[in-house]
Amino acid sequence: MSFAAHIITAYPDMFPGPLGESLQGRALADGLWRIAMHDLRDFGVGKHQNIDDTPAGGGPGMVLRADVAAAAVDHVTAQNPLPVILPSPRGVPFTQSLAQEWAKGDGLIFICNRFEGVDERFIAARQPLEVSLGDYVLGGGEIAAMVMLEAILRLVPGVMGKLESGADESFSPANDGLLEYPQYTRPQSFEGLDIPDVVTGGDHKKLAAWRRAQAEALTQNRRADLWADFLKRKK
Ligand code: SAH
Repeated sequence: MSFAAHIITAYPDMFPGPLGESLQGRALADGLWRIAMHDLRDFGVGKHQNIDDTPAGGGPGMVLRADVAAAAVDHVTAQNPLPVILPSPRGVPFTQSLAQEWAKGDGLIFICNRFEGVDERFIAARQPLEVSLGDYVLGGGEIAAMVMLEAILRLVPGVMGKLESGADESFSPANDGLLEYPQYTRPQSFEGLDIPDVVTGGDHKKLAAWRRAQAEALTQNRRADLWADFLKRKK
């Protein structure tokens, strides 16, 4: 069974967008994963199929109705019993380990909105997993869903083809949660800067040790949080 991405949105034309390009685009064409769009409008209420309304108690913007969000999610989960993700700045941080976990599953349902928010009663009643990309505010959940899917799909078997370079990348357990070592390619000399001898020298043991030391130094210098986690795990 291939990985299924279900997207509930009022802007279905945004997809597959960038997910239809490059390696994940080819994998989509090859059936290694699939995408199913679900238009929020189809679940709108009244003559105008409204999906949003003004915030109760006042405030800026509009709020996605709980009944509309629930009807859409119920419609999709009835056929596809998959985890429901609500992109949200107040959610749990999206991480490489979440991407790895989800890549092993059958797929995900994303419910996206471009409003001030979703009626809290939808969240209470359906309990989607709220997931955040980081401490900044996007205009909607669609691009957040794309970011998560791109991170997940490159870990789905076959999507990266023979490259399968996921194992020792930044943040991965196989790399002890460290940032990745520096990369080089031709030419040998660029603006007076040479590729370090150890990289091209052919001593694989020495190179592995050098890469590891570089990964540790980079992580220590740039990401105190990851470095502290690494030291804790080492104990
Ligand atoms: N009023 C909200 C922000 C609304 S932004 C607040 O102050 O928290 C509109 C939508 O964009 C959100 O409902 C969410 O689905 C999505 N979004 C915005 N920032 C995000 C982030 N950092 N991670 C994931 N989704 C985000």
